[in-house]
Amino acid sequence: MTAVAPMLEITDAILEIGGETIQICMQCGTCSGVCPWNLVRKFSPRLLIRQASLGIEGYESEALWNCVTCRTCVEHCPRGVDIIDVIRSARSLMQESGTVPPPFRAPLGSLKSDGNPWQTPREERSAWNQDVGVPELGPDTEHLFYACCTHCYDGRNKKVLRTMARLLLKGEVDMGIIGNEESCCADQAHKCGAYSLHLELSGANDQLFADKGVKKIIATSPHCMNMFNQEYEGNYESVHYTQVFDRLIADGKLKPKKEVALKVAYHDPCYLGRHSGIYEEPRRVLWSIPGLEYIELPRSRENSLCCGGGGGGIWSEVPVAERFGALRVQEALEAGAGVIATACPFCTIMIEDSLKALGKEEEIRVLDVAELLFQSVE
Ligand code: SF4
Ligand code: SF4
Repeated sequence: MTAVAPMLEITDAILEIGGETIQICMQCGTCSGVCPWNLVRKFSPRLLIRQASLGIEGYESEALWNCVTCRTCVEHCPRGVDIIDVIRSARSLMQESGTVPPPFRAPLGSLKSDGNPWQTPREERSAWNQDVGVPELGPDTEHLFYACCTHCYDGRNKKVLRTMARLLLKGEVDMGIIGNEESCCADQAHKCGAYSLHLELSGANDQLFADKGVKKIIATSPHCMNMFNQEYEGNYESVHYTQVFDRLIADGKLKPKKEVALKVAYHDPCYLGRHSGIYEEPRRVLWSIPGLEYIELPRSRENSLCCGGGGGGIWSEVPVAERFGALRVQEALEAGAGVIATACPFCTIMIEDSLKALGKEEEIRVLDVAELLFQSVE
């Protein structure tokens, strides 16, 4: 990519929007030390903050789009600097000046025109449900089952979604869908600094949810769950499907009985783990499956390695050798795993794509927690 915006404008914007946050930074460099990009290429959030605080020109604006909002830096910063907020602020200026890098333009345009980033008609949003049979949300339905755009439109993730829904129906969860009227949760618009688009999408969903009387949501992606809990006007109780599986197993409504003789390493998705603090529930689901040999990866829980898909990273073009997904595949193979389990549609895409690019399909697979549970319950 080439530099796409004047440097001084970027630093001015960061100062203006993130000024107070920036002032508490003591330039210790911990953020740069833990940022996963430095495993594969140079990227310094510390330098970004220093240059912004001094109003120095010269930080490459294109580097702002490297950040995959994994939250590792925020987790470790001794001064509590919200580096992601600073980066989002800088990106918002680039949105205003129309200087967004090419890979992000089509998905953002599709969010505006179709309510999803996959350049697919809104009318196809609920096609996945044709032979699954999740009922329409009624006035007395307890939970809205909100399917992430990536689950609705991406072929691989559509399979995961159908499996997930079948398990929840088997566990007699009182849930319904709204379907084609829904819009994207706006996670990517928000993380890319496209604030007016974010407000347009989340506002439309807020109004729709209010009209339908939604109080509780089962989200199929940790990104959607996080948005509903953190960024929406409505006061929803939004949970992740692995939390519901965990409860259904504890209550005896889902009974994992069949042996699943696989060596499984769990990959913590950033928005489920670091952003939402949910570490135990997906693990307990995996631990409940007879015959499954669980492997804890060296980089797990708070120190999990990002898949590279958040913050718009799913749209970036990254050489295989620099993909976090490729590092993750290597790490899981070294740990002796035959399956990488995850619980986020971005992780599934990013890790599976890397695995294929590495030619490792014969050695290791990526499966969602739902797909492993399904094998044991059915
Ligand atoms: S870890 Fe926090 S205090 Fe240290 S350089 Fe980074 S932002 Fe500044
Ligand atoms: S959020 Fe992650 S990718 Fe972005 S600067 Fe922090 S550690 Fe690096």
